[in-house]
Amino acid sequence: MPGVRGAPSVARMAISKVGGGSGPGEPTDIYAHPLSARQLPKHRIPDGPHDPDTVCQLVRDELDMDGNAAQNLATFCTTWSASQVHTLMDISLVKNMIDKDEYPQTAEIESRCVRMLANLWHAPEQSEAVGCSTTGSSEAAMLGGLAMKWRWRKAREAAGKPADRPNLVCGPVQVCWEKFARYFDVELRRVPLLPDATGMRPEQLRAYVDENTIGVVAILGVTYTCDYEPVREFSDALDAIQRETGLDVPLHVDAASGGFVAPFLHPDLEWDFRLPRVVSVNASGHKYGLAPLGVGWAVWRDAEMLPEDLVFHVSYLGGDMPTFALNFSRPGGSVISQYALLLRLGREGYRQVHRNCADTAAALAGKIADAGPFTVLYDGKGALPALSYTLKDPDPGFSLYDLSDQLRMRGWLVPSYPLPPDRGETVIQRVLIRHGISRDKADLFFEDLRASLERLRGTGPGASAPRVGFHH
Ligand SMILES: *Cc1c(COP(=O)(O)O)cnc(C)c1O
Repeated sequence: MPGVRGAPSVARMAISKVGGGSGPGEPTDIYAHPLSARQLPKHRIPDGPHDPDTVCQLVRDELDMDGNAAQNLATFCTTWSASQVHTLMDISLVKNMIDKDEYPQTAEIESRCVRMLANLWHAPEQSEAVGCSTTGSSEAAMLGGLAMKWRWRKAREAAGKPADRPNLVCGPVQVCWEKFARYFDVELRRVPLLPDATGMRPEQLRAYVDENTIGVVAILGVTYTCDYEPVREFSDALDAIQRETGLDVPLHVDAASGGFVAPFLHPDLEWDFRLPRVVSVNASGHKYGLAPLGVGWAVWRDAEMLPEDLVFHVSYLGGDMPTFALNFSRPGGSVISQYALLLRLGREGYRQVHRNCADTAAALAGKIADAGPFTVLYDGKGALPALSYTLKDPDPGFSLYDLSDQLRMRGWLVPSYPLPPDRGETVIQRVLIRHGISRDKADLFFEDLRASLERLRGTGPGASAPRVGFHH
């Protein structure tokens, strides 16, 4: 019998009594429970039920072996939430985003968020804003890409031209765009990075855009380096291309991170619907939007940019609710929390949170620049509250991967990875400063980084001393 080896020993466990052990013969403690004395089932659903408290504790124990989210400097996503968010998430456990008729207020709250974000991103007619929540930026990006593909195909067919070889032009995009291209049959034209560039450059566009280009993706907060791509300059370059060739190529902005940072920290930066060429924007509510995991946003400039045949209609309060989504059922808690956060923080609150993070990132970048072996690629100024750096000397006797390992010994999760083509020979390390990472915590991180460097160079205290055990 395949797939059940090792499982039967626990599968037939007797039904256990509730933990706490009040009755005679019952375990007095979760770790005195028979379930604690066995391996948990890993292949086959056990035949009988078990004590809920014991199971809950044992699963929690296993989760403790994950990395510590509070020391995760690798993720853009929310790792800290206020107690009120926990309350709302708990209340919202039963809210299904797709049931617009049954949970009309949840649907209303989603619409309010869309209007607020369309307004934040300067959509021309916010009362008519077209957009939706999604599970994250990946789904939102796919919806944005689909809308561009549909509009391009319609225009091609109207002109009597073939519409079978669509392409999408972009720089060092996140993997969601590779997925979009593969799943929806679009050629991804990834523009290689120029030497020293942290994103695509506007002058590169001309060589990649043609009549089959459904759109160009600009990234506000490049995943690899945390820098903003110059959206306005892309728009200007596409204007010039249109003047020269007649091609009218739309811009989609993947503002997964930057969409919730730039409006507060860099309000004069024109990257959004202020640029007429920007047709759609995606952002992750669960990144710098500060909402818990599970929410992204897609917003279109106006209804014209979202082809009607991509929209499905569901019943809503006896009326009609247009929806555009890849999923059907989906939890509503993070959408509801997003709304509460927008209300609770306001623009000033978001600005303060991100300002503190950005100042911390810049201070940490300064220390890392002064530490000696690093070249800072992004210093936390002008884009995301984050930093990235590489080794000055490509081979100082250790690699950034070794440094990541050393940092992990103190619980810090810091990724090292190569830049995308054509800068693949450059390995970098990236640190994200988010809600929940204070200046003091960043200082503690830096002290551990310095100690790690000393160990790697063999210069630290006790570097050559024999290893001894712990002293308590
Ligand atoms: C994180 C990220 C994504 C994917 O977003 P999810 O919300 O994780 O789906 C897409 N693009 C960029 C630039 C990102 O940083």
